[in-house]
Amino acid sequence: MVTRREMLGGSLAGGVLFCTCGLLAHGRAQAQTSRFEVKVGGKRVRTIDVHAHCNFADVIPLLNGNTALMIPLPTQPGANEIVINIDQRLAAMDAQGVDVEVLSVNPFWYGLDREVAARIVALQNERMAELCSVHGDRFAGLASLTLQAPELAVRELEMAVRKQGLKGAAIGGGVNGEEFANPKFHPVWAKAEELGVPLFIHPQAPTELQTRLKGNGFLINVIGNPLETTIALSHLIFEGTLDRFPKLKIVAAHGGGYLPSYADRSDHGCLAAPPGACSADIPLKKKPTEYLRQIYFDALVFSPEAVRHLVAQVGSSQVVLGSDYPYPWGARPTDPILAVPELSDREKTDILGLTAAKLFGI
Ligand SMILES: [Zn+2]
Repeated sequence: MVTRREMLGGSLAGGVLFCTCGLLAHGRAQAQTSRFEVKVGGKRVRTIDVHAHCNFADVIPLLNGNTALMIPLPTQPGANEIVINIDQRLAAMDAQGVDVEVLSVNPFWYGLDREVAARIVALQNERMAELCSVHGDRFAGLASLTLQAPELAVRELEMAVRKQGLKGAAIGGGVNGEEFANPKFHPVWAKAEELGVPLFIHPQAPTELQTRLKGNGFLINVIGNPLETTIALSHLIFEGTLDRFPKLKIVAAHGGGYLPSYADRSDHGCLAAPPGACSADIPLKKKPTEYLRQIYFDALVFSPEAVRHLVAQVGSSQVVLGSDYPYPWGARPTDPILAVPELSDREKTDILGLTAAKLFGI
């Protein structure tokens, strides 16, 4: 029989935590390392990272040997840390200056058979809930959803929020080539709106563009990921989904991709469009750019100037800290926010944690 450790293979298996409550409690007792404390105007602020990935080792036996589903690029920096190990994770957060991570599992099961996907989702949500209940001071969790079966996803979301204490759900950038604006997903958005919980949109690298994004530069991620988020958000705006669900709380990864950096083009497109390209059957209630002020965006845009521009486009109330841990993009994620001269101390404090605390109920 193949053990979990053997299935996982190599260095990835080192220090893997199998999530039982005893081990989780052990993890808490062990994790006391030097902590970088973020201060604004000389005052300590609580930082909440809304963009933190994890996977659970317990799910691996459900993958039928295909661990590449969960970890497609095992040699990528950060891949060794994606399967959560509490001591390692807390030490990394302490070094980063992150007080709380809002954990999510990036969806890898949308293409699987509904029953298998449902088992993966159920186990992940259970493990996430256990982890967050033991380490409630450092972690909040987002649910996984079997989004290829929207009626099941509705039930999963309801249970995750009402019974398991999870704070919302993590969704991809689309589902097997179908856009989130597709009415088949409306019941899921309606449930999220009713529960008042956020949905974190994180892209999964668009397979349609794989040929063009081959070659040097990791373009499938560098360009493909933000482009996928841009497409997902644009459809939610232009298909009237955000009008239909005005209280839906969307959080977009990577600063919303390219949308906030070239937002005004969205306001001008329908002026230049040929007949039929902008349907009179979908009369938007606002200018396209105005919808950006109801979406939340993580600040993973790397430079103080990029953070300043994002805030100028969407408002400081809509921007939250995001690191993409365990993927090592470089600087400490709080640094670009702290270095924006145009932001007040209050705005920095909001972006670093206060807005996320309210949004996720932490
Ligand atoms: Zn990410």
